[in-house]
Amino acid sequence: MHAKERAVAPAFRRVLGADVVPVANLDTDVLGTFSGEVPRPDALVETALIKADLVFRTMDVDCAIASEGSYGPIDRLPLIATGVEVMAFVDRRRGVRFVETLATHRTNWKLLRFKAGDPSIPIVLKSMGFPEYGVFVICSSNWDHPVKGLSTEEEVIAAMNREAEKSDDKMAVLVTDMRAHRNPTRMKVVRALSWKLAKRLQCLCPSCKAPGFGHIESRRGLPCEACGDPTDWIDFEVDGCSACGHAAARPRKDGRRTASKLSCRSCRAS
Ligand SMILES: [Zn+2]
Ligand SMILES: [Zn+2]
Repeated sequence: MHAKERAVAPAFRRVLGADVVPVANLDTDVLGTFSGEVPRPDALVETALIKADLVFRTMDVDCAIASEGSYGPIDRLPLIATGVEVMAFVDRRRGVRFVETLATHRTNWKLLRFKAGDPSIPIVLKSMGFPEYGVFVICSSNWDHPVKGLSTEEEVIAAMNREAEKSDDKMAVLVTDMRAHRNPTRMKVVRALSWKLAKRLQCLCPSCKAPGFGHIESRRGLPCEACGDPTDWIDFEVDGCSACGHAAARPRKDGRRTASKLSCRSCRAS
């Protein structure tokens, strides 16, 4: 629905010689949309895999891709927005099923509240990249019906005034539209993740030769340099195959074999 095939197709064509075709008549918005609530990362993974499976209902293909994204403030740093993109790949014939993820600080996500008639709205709209970038307007006391499809400054201001009037606190919320077709920054992140996914599909499982052999887990517990106790630092990475379950450990990229004693609970306690 959001033209993400424009971001995905080039990588799949160049890396794998594969065609990406958008699925018709599939309303994935029923699975959740951007509303300001930031879902848990494992919920994103689940939704992306469910979306990919939906493809097989209407198309006679072996492979499906679906993507999910989540953007919003970081809990600890309320003024800094961050995001994560998740892309699921399913090959039902080979039994391959995994996700690739990309965390990013590259986002224009913003959420601001205004009273009706606030004179700063046009300036703020401009700073949000409108109209190249889309925005939603939401009634501050009821987030169930965001106003979408706004294309001119006049329409946004009219919607802000109307929604503020309806709200218990007389405020309207202006929030960045994160749907890919209305957000060039997000489209770029989806494009980068597509390259990551396509390249992973080039890696074949050393055991069964299924595509998509790659990172599945980071094991913590790198031993402390002083006492040897396990710490929270990553000890090694695990690559795996979702088709046959074959897995292999891979040492840290930086070559470290021990963790700083500053990170060790035992050493700090003594
Ligand atoms: Zn395998
Ligand atoms: Zn220690």
